[in-house]
Amino acid sequence: MDCSLIEFVKIQRHFFKEFTNTLKKIKDPRHQSYITYGAETILYTILLKNAFGIDSMRSMTERFNKEECIKNVKKVLGLKQLEELPHYDTINDFLFKLDGKELEKVRTYMIKALLKKRCFESYRISDKYWLIVVDGTGIHTFKEKHCDHCLRREYKDQEIRETKVIYMHHVLEAKLVVGEMVFSIASEFIENESEDAPKQDCELKAFKRMAKKIKSTFKRLPICLLGDSLYACEPVFDICHDNKWKYIFRFKEGRIKSIATEFQAIKYLEENNKKNKHEKKREISLFGPPIFHITTDA
Ligand SMILES: [Zn+2]
Repeated sequence: MDCSLIEFVKIQRHFFKEFTNTLKKIKDPRHQSYITYGAETILYTILLKNAFGIDSMRSMTERFNKEECIKNVKKVLGLKQLEELPHYDTINDFLFKLDGKELEKVRTYMIKALLKKRCFESYRISDKYWLIVVDGTGIHTFKEKHCDHCLRREYKDQEIRETKVIYMHHVLEAKLVVGEMVFSIASEFIENESEDAPKQDCELKAFKRMAKKIKSTFKRLPICLLGDSLYACEPVFDICHDNKWKYIFRFKEGRIKSIATEFQAIKYLEENNKKNKHEKKREISLFGPPIFHITTDA
């Protein structure tokens, strides 16, 4: 067996005993009478491609379709038969049809397996809370309409003095932070329901949907959310309160008046209580009102 593949399988078996079984449970979207490869074979092939840093589907087919590699994949997946690894067209076709929720199930299994192994216990905040960072990010921009779900933003083209529209796709990610590593635990696409939706989707709306998913997937996980100033608002505080989540959000002057007043009050209290200053700060950030950082960036 290829040396790096041995290491890969060792890690897989150590941390994720049920990994191949989880892949086998994936709901296959294809017509079952025409398929050559099971969902687990296709997903395992693409996983190897990414784990081994192969950057194109074509070079993957070239590198993996060797007798020894095929034999190894067959063994790891416990298959009765495997003559060849799937061609990249087959993989692309499968991924195109696959419901993203099916992949989310695999991710959830992996995160829960890692937490159960208790290998990251030392990274809990105050030995209790798991730090989950939330942030939205752009994944695609287009000059022309790409689909009915695109987000749109108008801008002024200075050269031709015309208002133009840019089309975008964004995603909101929730990531578990353990030391220098982050693990994605939830993803929510920020996209419009339809082209004529009266109001566009946005990061906060996506957060509300995502919070529901995180709560139902990780019901009793003690969470401390970390987010930028966008999250420092009443609706998000309410969600955190209802879900019993702690939070640390960046505070920008002017975002909410009541918080600015509260911040000044806390600061005043802190300044007037130099005794056990360090301890006090810690307490405020985690168990009392959240601590806010005043930022100078625009
Ligand atoms: Zn689109």
